[in-house]
Amino acid sequence: MTTGIKVKSKIFDLGLDKGVEKLNSEQIEKTINKMLKEETGARFKTYAEICAHCGLCSEACHFYLSNDKDPKFSPAGKVKQTISVILENKGKVDSQFIRNAAEICYTECNLCKRCSMYCPFGIDIAYMMLTMRRICHLLGVTPQYIQDTAHSHSATLNQMWVKDDEWIDSLHWQEDEAREEFPNLRIPLDKEGSDVFYSVIGPEPKFRAQLIYQAAAIMNSAGIDWTMPSTPGWDNSDMCMYTGDNEMMGRLKKVHFETAIRLKTKRIVMGECGHAFRSVYDMGNRWLGWKMPPIPVIHAIDFYDELINKGKIKITHKYDKPVTLHDPCNVIRGRGLHEKSRYITNFLCNRFIEMIPNREHNYCCSAGGGVINCGPPFKNKRVDGNKVKAEQLKEAYKKGARVLIAPCHNCHGGLEDIIHHYGIDMEIKFFGDIIYELMEKPQ
Ligand code: SF4
Ligand code: SF4
Ligand code: SF4
Repeated sequence: MTTGIKVKSKIFDLGLDKGVEKLNSEQIEKTINKMLKEETGARFKTYAEICAHCGLCSEACHFYLSNDKDPKFSPAGKVKQTISVILENKGKVDSQFIRNAAEICYTECNLCKRCSMYCPFGIDIAYMMLTMRRICHLLGVTPQYIQDTAHSHSATLNQMWVKDDEWIDSLHWQEDEAREEFPNLRIPLDKEGSDVFYSVIGPEPKFRAQLIYQAAAIMNSAGIDWTMPSTPGWDNSDMCMYTGDNEMMGRLKKVHFETAIRLKTKRIVMGECGHAFRSVYDMGNRWLGWKMPPIPVIHAIDFYDELINKGKIKITHKYDKPVTLHDPCNVIRGRGLHEKSRYITNFLCNRFIEMIPNREHNYCCSAGGGVINCGPPFKNKRVDGNKVKAEQLKEAYKKGARVLIAPCHNCHGGLEDIIHHYGIDMEIKFFGDIIYELMEKPQ
C-alpha cells in the first residue's frame, strides 16, 4: 500500500471520519473487487495501464499549479495515490487508505477534464476520480455536506428539501411580482404540448428566486410557448452524480425526463447551470442507457443564442461596464458552447475583455465536481487550491474588466469565494441578469 507520496494533513469531516469507523478489511476488499469487476471495463483498464507518468497533465491542473507544483496534486499523482494503490493491492487496502483516497477524489479534483486535453493519450482523470468516488459511496464514506444534499434529493426529488406546495408558491410569488412590471406575464404550470419545458436547480426557488422572475420576463417578452412543472421533476441538479450514487442519479434524471415527456413538451431548456447540464446531457442519460437524452435538451446559453439570432431579445442599450467571461467546464469542454457565449456577450456588452487562457482551455473555478458542495471543512483548501484562477481574474481586472459573467451556478459560488478571498473588485453576473437589465420593458 506504499504510494511513495507523503500523506497530507487531515481535515475533520463527519461523513469521512465516521464513515470509515465502521469499515473492516474484508468488506473493503469485497466491495472494491465487486465494483471493479461489475462496473468497469476496457476504458478503465486502458487508462490504468497506459499512463506513462510523463507529467504533461500536471501543468493543466489548477490544484497542482496553486499548491507550489506539489506532485500530490497533479492529475496523475491523484490517480497514483488512489486507484493505482487499489489495483496494485488487488483491493486489499485499509480504512485509513479509504479515508485519504476519499478526501483526494471528493475535494482535490473538480472533474473539470482540463488535464485530459493535455495528456497525449487523452486519459480521463475525471473518470478515474469518479471511479474512486463510486467505491467510497459503496463503502458509505462521503463528505457530510454533499451527502446531506444527495439525501435531500433522494427524499424529496429536489436537493433543497423544497416541499411541493412551497415550490408552487414560489412560482406564483414570482409571477405576482413580475406582473407588476409585465402585466400579461404568466408562469404557465403543467401546460401540455408547449415548445419549452423550463427546469432549474433546487437552490433557485430557495435562495435565488429572482432568477425565475428574470427567466419568466425573458420568456414572456420573447413570446415563448413555455411551461414549468408543478410536480417533482423540476430540479435538474444532481449531487448524487458527484457522490458516486449512480442509482439515485438515474432515478433523478428519469423523473426529470419523464415529467417533460408527460407534459408532451418539445424540448427541455435548462437554466444557467453547468453540472446539471452534465448530468442531463452526459452522465445521467447514459447511465439510464440513452446515448443522448430521450427528449432534446439545451442549456440557457444555446437558448439565448437562438433568441438573439431570431431577433426575439430586444435590448434598449448595451451594457456599459467592461466585462470578462468565465467558461464553465461542463458546458464549454463538455458541450462546446464557447463561441455562442461570446456571441451573446458581444451582443449585450460594449466592452468584452477575454481572460487568458479561455474557451476550452479555461481554468475551472474550483467549485465544480461537487467540491464546493463538500462544504465549509474544505473551503480553505478549495480557495487556496485556485490561485491560478485569481491570477487570471486579476489580469482581466488590470485590463479593465469590472464584471465577471459566469453562466453556471457552481461557478458563481466558487468565483465569489475567490473574488472575496483574493480581494478582486468584480461583480459576478449570469447572462440572464444582464439580458433582464437591458431588455425592453413595458413603460
Ligand atoms: S481538477 Fe481538473 S485538471 Fe485537476 S485533476 Fe481534476 S479533472 Fe484534472
Ligand atoms: S499526461 Fe497522461 S500519460 Fe502523462 S502523466 Fe498525465 S495521465 Fe499519465
Ligand atoms: S463549477 Fe463551473 S468551472 Fe467549475 S467544474 Fe463546474 S462548470 Fe466547471
